[in-house]
Amino acid sequence: MASAQIPTVSLNNGTTIPQLGFGVYQVPPDETERAVQTAFEAGYRHIDTAQMYQNEAGVGRALRSSGLAREDVYITTKLNNDSHEPAVARAALEQSLRELDVDHVDLFLIHWPLPTRYGGDYVSTWRTLTELAAEGKAVSVGVSNFHPEHLKRIVDETGIVPAINQIEVHPYLTNEAARLASGRLDVAVEAWSPIAQGAVLGDPVLVELAEKYGKTPAQVTLRWHIERGDIIFPKSVTPERVKENADIFDFSLTPDEVNRITALDKGEEGRTGPNPDTFDWIPGL
Ligand code: NAD
Repeated sequence: MASAQIPTVSLNNGTTIPQLGFGVYQVPPDETERAVQTAFEAGYRHIDTAQMYQNEAGVGRALRSSGLAREDVYITTKLNNDSHEPAVARAALEQSLRELDVDHVDLFLIHWPLPTRYGGDYVSTWRTLTELAAEGKAVSVGVSNFHPEHLKRIVDETGIVPAINQIEVHPYLTNEAARLASGRLDVAVEAWSPIAQGAVLGDPVLVELAEKYGKTPAQVTLRWHIERGDIIFPKSVTPERVKENADIFDFSLTPDEVNRITALDKGEEGRTGPNPDTFDWIPGL
C-alpha cells in the first residue's frame, strides 16, 4: 500500500493529518523501533505515541533509521498524567522532544482531563499547550478523553479551540455525544482502540460484511471509521496485521452498512477503557 492512498483530514488550524496512523500503546520499548519500521514499510506516515507509553525513544530511532524526511511523518505524543502543572508540562514536552529526537511534534495532546485531580484545573494545562504551539514546539495541540463538558470549559475559559479530541470510539462504544460536541466546535475526532482491542471482531454483522467484501472483520471496522471521518491508528506488532490494517482503501461500505455497524453501540457497557470523569491514575502515586 502506498502512503499516497491514505486520505488526510483537515484540522481547524489549516493543517492536515493522515486519517490512518499507527498506534504504539502497549508496544514494549525494546520492540517499538522494529514495530514502527514495519509500519513505515507498510506505508504508514503517522505515529501515535504518548509519554505514558514510555516508548517515544523507539519511535525516534525508527524515524531516524527510516531515512524518511521529518516533514513526511506525522508524530503525536501526549502529556502524562503526572505533568499537568504548567511548568511541568513544558518540561515534559521538552523531554519528549529529546526522546523523539525532533525539534517539534506535529500534535501534542492532554492525555486525560483528570477532573478530580489538580483541584479540577485542566484549563491552565490547556493554556500551556496553546503557548507551546505558539512557540513552535507542537504544530497542533489538542486533548484526549474530553467529555463535552470538559471541551466546553476549556473553550469558554481560553477562547482557544483544540485541533483534536482523541476519544474511545469503536462499534461497541460509538461515543456519539463526545463526537458531536467535538464536531460542533470543529474539533476533529480521533478514535482510539478502533477495533476495541479485538473485542468487536467476532460480531456477526462485521463477520457478514467481511465475507461480502472479501475483507477481515478488522478491515471492515477500520473502514467504518474512515467512512465516518474519524482519524484512526490501530496497533499491532504482527507485520501481517500491520499491513492488513492499512489495506482498507480499495473498498467502501454503503451508508446502510455504516448505520448497521453504528447500531451495534452498547453505550457505557461497551467502554473498554476508563471513564474520563473518574479516571485519576497518576504514575508513581
Ligand atoms: P486497537 O483497537 O488498535 O487494538 C489493538 C489490538 O487488537 C492488538 O494488540 C491486537 O491484539 C489486535 N489486532 C490488531 N490488528 C488486528 C487484526 N487485523 N486482526 C485481529 N486482531 C488485531 O487498540 P489500542 O492499541 O488500544 O488502540 C490503538 C491506539 O490508540 C493505541 O496504540 C494508542 O495509540 C491509542 N490509544 C489512546 C488512548 C488514549 O487514552 N488516548 C487509549 C488507548 C489507545
